[in-house]
Amino acid sequence: MDQHKGNLFILSAPSGAGKSSLYKALLKQDERVRISISHTTRSARSGEEHGREYYFSDVETFLDMIAEDAFFEHAQVFDNYYGTSKESIFGMLEEGLDVILEIDWQGARQVRQLYSEAIGIFILPPSLQSLEERLKGRGTDTEEVIQRRMAKAIDEMSHYNEYDFLIINDDFDTALQQMASIFVAMRTKTPVMQQKHDILLNDLLSL
Ligand code: 5GP
Repeated sequence: MDQHKGNLFILSAPSGAGKSSLYKALLKQDERVRISISHTTRSARSGEEHGREYYFSDVETFLDMIAEDAFFEHAQVFDNYYGTSKESIFGMLEEGLDVILEIDWQGARQVRQLYSEAIGIFILPPSLQSLEERLKGRGTDTEEVIQRRMAKAIDEMSHYNEYDFLIINDDFDTALQQMASIFVAMRTKTPVMQQKHDILLNDLLSL
């Protein structure tokens, strides 16, 4: 895979760890960061907009896109298809923007195989108790539904070790600062700087 100018980040977390609030705050404060918008065949939930949370499409269109090799990665989650189109990320990386893929551990594995430079960040809650409180949030679900969500969250968390960075979202501002620092630090890695500042580096080494 070609070396692009921006960095590709994978962001995963169990639901209830506060991942969305964190990346939304980061997008507001760092103009070089973008989120990739996935395609999905599931229907929009209330408050969701086509082109903002997802590109909502029918199964036929989605399968056509698979046949046209338009996806960077795609997966079937429960009864629906989800996928990241190549178009949605490579244009932005070429422009030097950092792109976040908000995907689960299975998608993350695929992405790492396709794009070894991808940087993985995993967000954890500070305790199981706080996770349960977040998952109970809506207050209308049965104990059984909540326990099923907890089991799914624990399964997701069991993959934390596959990621480059871990953030424990106890204090929101601290977690945000840690995440922002990772983005900044990755921009100053030697290969990235070499590519971006090749003229300066050549200049500095010639007498
Ligand atoms: P939801 O339907 O609740 O928005 O998302 C369900 C699951 O699909 C989540 O675990 C989410 O991370 C995953 N997901 C969303 N978009 C993509 C995608 O483009 N690719 C993959 N592999 N998973 C996705």
